[in-house]
Amino acid sequence: MNILLIEDSLAEARFLQELLKHSHLKNYHVVHVKRLGEALQQLRQDSPLYHVILLDLSLPDSQGLDSLKPLIQNAPKLPIVVLTNTNDEELALEAVRQGAQDYLLKRQVTTEVLVRSLQYAIERKQAVEILRQENETLENQVELQTVELLKAKAQNQRRSEFVSMMSHDFRNPLCTILLSTELLKNSDQKLTPAQKKSIFQRIKAAGNNMVQLLDEIILVGKADLDQLKCVPAPLNLVNFCEQLVENIQESTGNENRIVLAIKGDISHTLWDEHLLRHILSNLLTNAVKYSPNGGRVHLTIIAEEHQVKFQVQDQGIGIPSPDQKRLFQAFQRASNVGEIEGTGLGLAIVQRCVEACQGSVLVESVPGEGTTFTVILPVFHET
Ligand code: ATP
Ligand code: MG
Repeated sequence: MNILLIEDSLAEARFLQELLKHSHLKNYHVVHVKRLGEALQQLRQDSPLYHVILLDLSLPDSQGLDSLKPLIQNAPKLPIVVLTNTNDEELALEAVRQGAQDYLLKRQVTTEVLVRSLQYAIERKQAVEILRQENETLENQVELQTVELLKAKAQNQRRSEFVSMMSHDFRNPLCTILLSTELLKNSDQKLTPAQKKSIFQRIKAAGNNMVQLLDEIILVGKADLDQLKCVPAPLNLVNFCEQLVENIQESTGNENRIVLAIKGDISHTLWDEHLLRHILSNLLTNAVKYSPNGGRVHLTIIAEEHQVKFQVQDQGIGIPSPDQKRLFQAFQRASNVGEIEGTGLGLAIVQRCVEACQGSVLVESVPGEGTTFTVILPVFHET
């Protein structure tokens, strides 16, 4: 047991050491200092490692309870036994309230009392320390669980938003189908063949719309379950992009609208065709769709050493900056879309496909001037 004895009176110190000498304690070591400053210095040194402090409450450089705080601050795990004069019992009790483990009245100290007090102080401090550590562990666990709970709550909220938006978007084509079939049933005799054809086409388009919506929702769901995997395979990227551009121009009825440019060497590279198609077709259809006044759309592919940049640039309506970040969440649309139709799933799909490919996507846009989406994907080469 290493004891740090802080006592300015030599006589008292000697008396205490005498008591210890006559005790049953065999392995003990006392370091005696006369001032608080010296004691703090002792505690800052690495050795000896103290087990307990015996503290006189009236020292030349510190009086009463003032000595406690710096000692506890410097050695929070060390038990302290306070020494006071007989008429200072109230002060001693206050010291215990403020963190000392025990107190001894100087005139009443005997060997037995001293040893018991020192041992008791050490035991008690250890028990307190264990409790404190357990408490800390518990608090950490509670904190972690609270974070998890909040996360789950937010996820639940997003999920229910997702379901309600999804239901809303399914309702439109479904209503079209129901109204059209009703019309066919009730007015079959009055309709011309051309009118009937147009109603059938409307039903078919609504059906297709629902199938597409379902496919997109399934894709987002898969990505959220981490089931969207990138499987790169040899792909002629130039042919693939040319074909994609042609298809989009056909389906949007905009010939020569999209300008494809390729910079650098992209031959013999590997790509997940399925994911790349989702990424580029969504960005290109958006670029065309959100440029109602025309203007060219540029798809520029820039090959760099370890990555390829796909830039889709338009001169359309742009995206107000407060909206830009949230548009990658499902069913989010910007405030300036006006009459332009959409569900708000395209960019959510883009982002998830890009993430599956370990890439990144960023958007720069000035409302009224245009938008540039840049997708950066790591590149794998055929070996
Ligand atoms: P869809 O699910 O049919 O793609 P959408 O086009 O509305 O519907 P996203 O592709 O996810 O959905 O786009 C989200 C929103 O981002 C759009 O509603 C639009 O407000 C904005 N946006 C996306 N691309 C552009 C663009 N090139 N120019 C201007 N706004 C854009
Ligand atoms: Mg879209």
